[in-house]
Amino acid sequence: MIALLWIVVFIVAFMALAYVRGSLVTTTIAIGVVLAICTLTSTNAPVAFVLWLLFLVVFGALNIPAVRKPYLTKPALRLFRQVLPTLSPTERTALDAGTVWWEGELFSGMPNWRRLEELPPAGLSTEEQAFLDGPVQTLLDMCDEWQITHEDADLPAEAWQYIKDNKFWGMIIPKRYGGLEFSAYAHSCVLAKVGSGPAGGTVGPIVAVPNSLGPAELLMHYGTDAQRDHYLPRLAVGEEIPCFGLTSPFAGSDAGAIPDRGVVCRGEWNGEDVLGMKLTWEKRYITLAPVATVLGLAFKMYDPDGLLGGETELGVTCALIPTDTPGCHTGRRHFPASAPFQNGPTWGTDVFVPLDHIIGGREMIGEGWRMLMECLSVGRSISLPSGSTGDAIANTRLTGAYAVTRRQFNISIGEFEGVQEALARIGGKTYACESVRRFTANAVDLGEKPSVASAIAKYHVTTLAQDVAKDAMDVHAGKAVMLGPSNPVARRFQAAPVNITVEGANILTRSMMIYGQGAIRCHPYVLDEIEAANNRDQDAALDAFDDLLYRHIGHDLAAAARSFVMGFTGGLGSSAGRAAKLAPYYRAMNRYSANLALISDVAMGTLGGTLKFRESLSGRLGDVLSNLYIASATLKRFVEDGEHADDLPLVAWVCEQAFAEIETALAGVLRHLPNRPAALIAGALIFPLGRTARVPSDGLGRRIARLVQTPGAARDRLTPRCYISQTKTDGALALFERAMQATLETAELHKTLVKARKSGEIDADHPRDQIDQAAAREILSAEQAQQLRAAFELQMSVIRVDDFAPEEMRSRAKQTAADPVNEA
Ligand SMILES: Cc1cc2nc3c(=O)[nH]c(=O)nc-3n(C[C@H](O)[C@H](O)[C@H](O)COP(=O)(O)OP(=O)(O)OC[C@H]3O[C@@H](n4cnc5c(N)ncnc54)[C@H](O)[C@@H]3O)c2cc1C
Repeated sequence: MIALLWIVVFIVAFMALAYVRGSLVTTTIAIGVVLAICTLTSTNAPVAFVLWLLFLVVFGALNIPAVRKPYLTKPALRLFRQVLPTLSPTERTALDAGTVWWEGELFSGMPNWRRLEELPPAGLSTEEQAFLDGPVQTLLDMCDEWQITHEDADLPAEAWQYIKDNKFWGMIIPKRYGGLEFSAYAHSCVLAKVGSGPAGGTVGPIVAVPNSLGPAELLMHYGTDAQRDHYLPRLAVGEEIPCFGLTSPFAGSDAGAIPDRGVVCRGEWNGEDVLGMKLTWEKRYITLAPVATVLGLAFKMYDPDGLLGGETELGVTCALIPTDTPGCHTGRRHFPASAPFQNGPTWGTDVFVPLDHIIGGREMIGEGWRMLMECLSVGRSISLPSGSTGDAIANTRLTGAYAVTRRQFNISIGEFEGVQEALARIGGKTYACESVRRFTANAVDLGEKPSVASAIAKYHVTTLAQDVAKDAMDVHAGKAVMLGPSNPVARRFQAAPVNITVEGANILTRSMMIYGQGAIRCHPYVLDEIEAANNRDQDAALDAFDDLLYRHIGHDLAAAARSFVMGFTGGLGSSAGRAAKLAPYYRAMNRYSANLALISDVAMGTLGGTLKFRESLSGRLGDVLSNLYIASATLKRFVEDGEHADDLPLVAWVCEQAFAEIETALAGVLRHLPNRPAALIAGALIFPLGRTARVPSDGLGRRIARLVQTPGAARDRLTPRCYISQTKTDGALALFERAMQATLETAELHKTLVKARKSGEIDADHPRDQIDQAAAREILSAEQAQQLRAAFELQMSVIRVDDFAPEEMRSRAKQTAADPVNEA
């Protein structure tokens, strides 16, 4: 019995030390003290002897470097080298590019919430705010969705000119070159507002692409002074229209496999014989290519004749090609689904340009892949998460307004629980999108190039926004299906896959990039261990590995102890941020962060380098990291917004949903880990009481559905900077908002009307006739009847859908062919 008690005491002491991540010295002393107390209070000398022997062997070996290094560390290093993931040069470049930010804390197993709280909040300067209120609003006022997406398949000429004149393409260009030099956050707010506007899926990419990975960004970081002085001022004001061509028909996701070539040779340029290259390329999907004046081109460079005096294969290189260069073909268009922004193929065969067209000049030959990887995370943090957030925000307002306005069975459809479920998802997911957008753009302003966080933001915000678009369609139902100028949601739904596809298609982003990079980049030890293991100096490798290995083991023990204990307590008593209302969420995240640290090492330890090919496992592991990121961005946003109690249901919804998804992902990993004993032990530590997270309750959903349908500060905070036309009262959202307001204001009058119809006091069937009867029979006053009539007409203008003459439905080209004279 006493022996059993000792065992329990030892286990508890060991777990407590592991839980607080005690150092090896502290652990040795503490275990020694516990052992001494047990020895002094015990009469069982043989057991005490065995325990002391065990203690001396284990802790002696661990604490004496002369014993530890040759007998423990060296074999461990040998084993580590065998399971080391092999990295291709392109993977290595991707790993080296960018920085690790908050996602590193989440991976650590013990996130430091103080660090999250101390991150300065994102904000706008007066100039940036004025740009959002002025030029952005004006540009969107110029855009008519149906005209753009159906009739013209393009922006009106005045909108193109306005974009150029107001330097929309110069948001990232420094002021000394004539740009706007906006913060990443301001840039993101502009794109979010554009995304919320009419034809956001079309206007968005046109504004976003020149400010994202492309000529301007590459020139700012790698261009020669001459290139910057020439191009940046022109790009800022749209005198040059840029595009960037990486993707080819043969190399989409596998962009490193581009077959496009540049062969070094001599040639004639402006009448002179110069050293240059003959470029042959075939690119597709290139945004702005049909109207571009300068093409940023990625290709592989070769020097077969040794004209540069070095190797033959020089690697991926980026150059700027004026599109009027003889042999450069642009101008034809692809037709992206319901978002007809300018996008098309470009090709050329043996097009000669001098070497000074290479971005950064000769020095940057072969550096193209590194350049792209280094710049990718910044653009990816901003463009797509922002556009998709704007889209979700507009869908939220439109759908909330429609759910109030549209009545069936004599009540607003938003009163039905089924519709409320959809509205809750819409509200919750939109809150998550905006939180992640803001958090990630702010990281860029804080000097980060967050490669993993940007992949999380890209994947999750675009996916969540697509979910919102789908739910919006279901709530608008027939109204959503009938295309025409009166339909503000269908184009959003149809265009959502564009953001899913670009800048790293989403399946690949989830299953390969988030965790594939995250596991190595964010892990507190693995990258350093890989570097140590690759060190050719064996003594230095052993010393470095020795230092890392035992800290790594401490990290694993802590993750195991914390997972197990918090599996019972739900994280109770663990660290939390200052906002008391949020404490349960911080604490749950402590638990899940420990789970991630543990399961990651179990997966990496048992699968080694093959984990990267097990995409279903790494996708799920990425889901754990991503949902921790989404939940932390949400908590941060709630605090930054002023901790309004009205917003708490949204925070609760996002966190509960995230935690349920984390547990599903963890359970999926445990179920599919090939090493079953390891999976069973990890499962017992992670889920000692089974799964405990619950999806958001119906009650919570109802509160969010109410919030989405109630005009006021909470709804405005949920949908910040949503474009609502101040000039066009028939602009979709402006109209929907007025109809919602009128419906709410006349709700009691409508009830009176319904009651009167039920009781037989009035007998008309059409609502207009019912109002007239009720007024005539003095059930409603004349003023009330007038109010109801006005509300009804507004409701009708929201509910109506378009119809077309048969000839209007034929494409314009066909009409022209059939009736050329009339068309002319
Ligand atoms: C509208 C639009 C605009 C674009 N603009 C530009 C531009 O301006 N410049 C430019 O260079 N490119 C541009 N692109 C290309 C874009 O950024 C993507 O890189 C490209 O579309 C991906 O290639 P793909 O569509 O051929 O998909 P594929 O590479 O054929 O992939 C098909 C599917 O397989 C998945 N997949 C592929 N590999 C893996 C893997 N290893 N693991 C798991 N899943 C995988 C993908 O996620 C995807 O779901 C644009 C694309 C579109 C559609």
